[in-house]
Amino acid sequence: MKAELIAVGTEILLGQITDTNTPFIAQKLANLGIDVYFQSTVGDNPERLKATIELAAQRSGLIILSGGLGPTEDDLTKQTVADFLQQKLVTDAPAMAKIERYFRETGRVMTENNRIQAMYLANAQPISNRTGFAVGIFAKETNGPDFLLLPGPPSELEPMVSEQVLPLLTKNYFRDHILHSRVLRFFGIGESELTTQLSDLIDKQKNPTIAPYAKQNEVTLRLTARGKTVSEVDGALNNCESKIQKLVGDYFYGYGDHNSLSKVVIKQLKKAQSTVSAVEGFTDGRLLTALTESDDNNQISKGGRVLTTLSLVTDQNDFQTDLKSKKDTEQLAKQIKQDTNSNLGIAVSQAQLDQVANGEQVGSIWIAIVDNKNQMNCKKLKFSTIRPFVKERVVMNALSMINQILK
Ligand code: ATP
Repeated sequence: MKAELIAVGTEILLGQITDTNTPFIAQKLANLGIDVYFQSTVGDNPERLKATIELAAQRSGLIILSGGLGPTEDDLTKQTVADFLQQKLVTDAPAMAKIERYFRETGRVMTENNRIQAMYLANAQPISNRTGFAVGIFAKETNGPDFLLLPGPPSELEPMVSEQVLPLLTKNYFRDHILHSRVLRFFGIGESELTTQLSDLIDKQKNPTIAPYAKQNEVTLRLTARGKTVSEVDGALNNCESKIQKLVGDYFYGYGDHNSLSKVVIKQLKKAQSTVSAVEGFTDGRLLTALTESDDNNQISKGGRVLTTLSLVTDQNDFQTDLKSKKDTEQLAKQIKQDTNSNLGIAVSQAQLDQVANGEQVGSIWIAIVDNKNQMNCKKLKFSTIRPFVKERVVMNALSMINQILK
């Protein structure tokens, strides 16, 4: 199967937005083993879009268009494809009901154009849009290429592709195959180091395929296996995962697309029936937030204190607030554990600034955790900027330390 990707949108041509949909879809297709030989971008212009589709139809078996499914005048993708395929547009009742409900509940006036978002090609299959309104469309054709139409916003396209389009493509193009994916999440190792350590595996391993993705402060690996039975596919995934775990298992913390280190840590804390409290200098409350936001019934955190990042504050209470040295950080971790009667007491120091280099603050901070057995775990981290992503990395380090303690 040869697929061709067309991103529709004048904003992309003008450089006002970067096309992230095309690489996202291309990666997913590569995982499936669908070849992509051509990618193009075209503005919101029906003639040029039609010409692009005509060219694509001569050389590809599956034409995937993203963008232009919305309610505005310039959103013409499905009308142009309908014209090309000589099919009418019909309404998808569940999508229409969702749009009507939204306008009813928000008290906003619905225009006729909004109805277009719920329309699809008469002989095709609508794909529901969990995070938006415009339905996706899959048209399987007997004489000519198949079409897949996807909404432009990545917040709509990405879940639609992952949750619905991939199973749909598998069902249609790999009928006798089962496809399973497994996502492994790593913290504490950069993408280049991870891929270097796994380079042999990544190069040689064709089933499952191994696709690394670098995210903010972490790296994920998606393993995708194809086979004829569930046990064959899962066996291949297990086998591949165990090779990976042997090489980089020290950095592995969990599975799944929608997982995070804070979710894993909260789960671990709940399992161990442990509570935590924290005093934060450098991280401005981000650690306490991470320890509460995915804890639905608020069982874990016994609260804490947030000190300012850099400066000494005068505190009327009995808290020491110039928190920079290892000794003071350890002391405060003990104190907060004791004061709140928590199982774990954590302190993240304020920043110890060493110098300014290239306009950025360079320095270090301490993380101290007193565990259930009153043992002290302490780590020094250096930073070369105090921008938010570094603070988030410090939070990830603190979470990772908790994770290690609980293991
Ligand atoms: P809507 O229903 O929101 O109108 P749509 O399917 O009509 O969606 P467009 O109108 O083409 O999509 O684009 C809506 C927004 O989605 C764009 O302003 C842009 O922010 C984002 N977007 C569209 N195409 C892409 C793309 N290829 N890559 C990244 N973002 C995109």
